[in-house]
Amino acid sequence: MSDYDYSELLNRAEGAFSKSDKRESRLKIPDPETINEGKTTIIRNYGEIVELINRDPKHIAKYLMKELGIGVSQEGNRLLINRKVSPQVISTKIRQYMEIFVICYECMSPDTEIRKVGRTDLMFCKACGAQNPIRGVRDTRTEDTTVEEGKTYKVTVTEVGQSKEGKAHLYGTTIIIPGGKKGEEVRVLIKKIRKGVAFAEVLKDKK
Ligand SMILES: [Zn+2]
Repeated sequence: MSDYDYSELLNRAEGAFSKSDKRESRLKIPDPETINEGKTTIIRNYGEIVELINRDPKHIAKYLMKELGIGVSQEGNRLLINRKVSPQVISTKIRQYMEIFVICYECMSPDTEIRKVGRTDLMFCKACGAQNPIRGVRDTRTEDTTVEEGKTYKVTVTEVGQSKEGKAHLYGTTIIIPGGKKGEEVRVLIKKIRKGVAFAEVLKDKK
């Protein structure tokens, strides 16, 4: 995206703030502006994005952390993600967040709020009055685009690290496979995920 497009997006975002009490039914969220610093991805316009979404920035960050399986931290207007992530993936995750927590399931208005009623989180729509329990996160997620704890995956060991541990890459996540040999195809169980790195155990089936 050019600088010109970016400032235009910012102008549009500011325009949306000034009439925030009378929101349009369609909410335009700017594309995430990302830069990579080493292995860290920085969303430079995270502040603008979350202001428009109108939800607790921490809630959104927590959602991203869970979905991406990596640590994130907010620093002022920027969100730091402890891994290289493409802007497309971030865009998709933010859109999914909106679909689950922001956009009214019935009239598509973003003018909603979440209220806890008993143990249930309900989405209240100020535009049409609808009240709906928040959908499960899994309902909108397409299967097998992320590496998750407790799941098994078939991967190929592509490198061997300094401590002789095998490494594979899947859906943008590095998987550490003790005993994995380079070029070997193995089925692994993900034991845990820490800061975007998944620790796996080789499942011994036939061989
Ligand atoms: Zn509605």
